[in-house]
Amino acid sequence: MKELVERIKKDGHVLGEGVLKVDSFVTHQVDPVLMEQMGNRLAEVFKEAGITKVVTIEASGIAPAVFAAKELNVPMIFARKAKSLTMDEELLTSSVYSFTKQVTSTISISRKFLSSEDKVLIIDDFLANGQAAKGLIELCQQAGAEVEGIGIIIEKSFQDGRQLIEDMGLRVVSLARIASLTNGQVEFLEEDA
Ligand code: 5GP
Repeated sequence: MKELVERIKKDGHVLGEGVLKVDSFVTHQVDPVLMEQMGNRLAEVFKEAGITKVVTIEASGIAPAVFAAKELNVPMIFARKAKSLTMDEELLTSSVYSFTKQVTSTISISRKFLSSEDKVLIIDDFLANGQAAKGLIELCQQAGAEVEGIGIIIEKSFQDGRQLIEDMGLRVVSLARIASLTNGQVEFLEEDA
């Protein structure tokens, strides 16, 4: 997506160890206009897939996911990383190793929000090694829901995430694809949408 690629060139910062900082428009401060365009674009790509729920993981997946869900006219569910006292129902859970925080966390969704009737679009802000997406796919599988695809804002194509998900037979659509972050420079691949 041209607008996102331009924004990354203008406001993204390369940190050491292959990490891209986009905290002025995606991961901390949010640009709602760009975010809405991105959510709408992902909704457009999956509009014929019969999506009944959009699923993401807190925190930075929520903004694009809610715009995509609004456009698809379906609910958005975000997996929680910490168990809340109010989550007293049966839970779907899986473990996710965080690339940026370097800790493993248990993510969960209340079983009542996903069922075998659901067709799910998973959305996240970044795809790196694919662990967050894999954890979300596992939650959907536990509910017997069908995953129709994975929509990503920024894919770091030099890491293994896309391969991992495509090997599961699932479609990945990324709005920006980064070939490399070496020498402080962002090199792009052709994006999917
Ligand atoms: P994965 O599970 O695919 O390895 O990593 C995905 C998660 O790690 C995303 O939800 C995102 O929060 C975080 N992440 C991975 N790489 C980056 C990065 O380069 N920059 C930022 N800001 N977050 C990242």
